[in-house]
Amino acid sequence: MAKKHKDTLVTVAGRDKSRTFGAINPPVFHASTVLFDNYADLREGVRNSETRFFYGRKGSPTIWAFNDAVKELEGGAEAKSFPSGIAAATASLLSVLSAGDHLLMADCVYEPMRLIANRLLKKLGIETEFFEPRIGAGIASMLRDNTRAIFIESPGSLTMEIADVPAIRAVVESRNITVINDNTWATPYFHKALEKGAHLVVHAATKYIVGHSDAMLGVIVADEAHARGLRRIAAQLGQVPGPDDAYLGLRGFRTLGVRLKQHQENALKVAEWLLKHRLVDDVLYPALAHSPDHALWQRDFEGANGLFSMVLNCGDYGDMGALVDELEYFGLGFSWGGFESLILPQDPSPHRSVVPWTAKGPLVRLHIGLEDPGDLIADLRTGLERYAKAVAK
Ligand SMILES: *Cc1c(COP(=O)(O)O)cnc(C)c1O
Repeated sequence: MAKKHKDTLVTVAGRDKSRTFGAINPPVFHASTVLFDNYADLREGVRNSETRFFYGRKGSPTIWAFNDAVKELEGGAEAKSFPSGIAAATASLLSVLSAGDHLLMADCVYEPMRLIANRLLKKLGIETEFFEPRIGAGIASMLRDNTRAIFIESPGSLTMEIADVPAIRAVVESRNITVINDNTWATPYFHKALEKGAHLVVHAATKYIVGHSDAMLGVIVADEAHARGLRRIAAQLGQVPGPDDAYLGLRGFRTLGVRLKQHQENALKVAEWLLKHRLVDDVLYPALAHSPDHALWQRDFEGANGLFSMVLNCGDYGDMGALVDELEYFGLGFSWGGFESLILPQDPSPHRSVVPWTAKGPLVRLHIGLEDPGDLIADLRTGLERYAKAVAK
């Protein structure tokens, strides 16, 4: 059969009539116990617990539908979902690392992942070394005999560096090292992480896949060689998402393409406007032509979303109230990927250990929602005017 276009996949992936009685969307199965017909059936259930409804902790048809949808769009062999992005990312590391192993982690990862490495993994006897996110093939010089995994987030949280994943994969190709990529930013709609070199892909589905700021959800997709390890870790940890959240994940997934394209269009308008603003030193967004990551982004990605950062050229974090407190459309809050615009001043310096952060002024992360970009620009214009006055005082 012909390879399906991604817009077709977003619409049809994970749909299985035998699980839904014909309904378009899967029913929300609230279940722990599942009853068997007889003892022989129970024994058969134990043997096939991955593929039939067996016990709530092993998933339900609602969760399978979500897993299958993400797996098909990502082009993987297996997918398992978790109650949050961090739960998924942690499980991906636990699935391949053991005591005595060495882990390489990008210096730009989402901050809680540093804590997982520096606290939990350390306690388990796993040593983590951070690497410069744009290291590419240079990662060869950091490999040790006991290096077992490379954890990448591309683009990086806050600072938006893009990793040359194909180059990193080429370096580890014949070695027993798993490349894990947190693909939350682009989603499988805009970046085919497995095709570009990852063995395991992690998503905070909480962001664009759920897409409406109303559920926590994570998912891991594995290639053929890592499918068994993924099934094992998911079964052992028992961190299954609630069925309502898996349902919301699938509901959001169906409109991923149209939403992302609009987020991208709006974000480009706002980012280009900001780049010319006198208070803005830089806009960190790989879709902009001046970005040092633009060429890699064009090579490996099919689009950008609504999330980027700006670096201001004056003032400091203490002045931020003037910018953010009275904005009409930009909410002040964590996370992103919903339909609404958000703003978050955040200093990356405490969360980096290899590449010091030496920006001129404060960094402000923006999530550009589905509002009219003209309204968003007007909102930011008045916010930046207030900021200029506060800094001048
Ligand atoms: C938000 C985020 C996570 C964590 O996801 P949660 O669902 O909030 O646990 C992981 N990675 C990236 C890149 C994120 O942005």
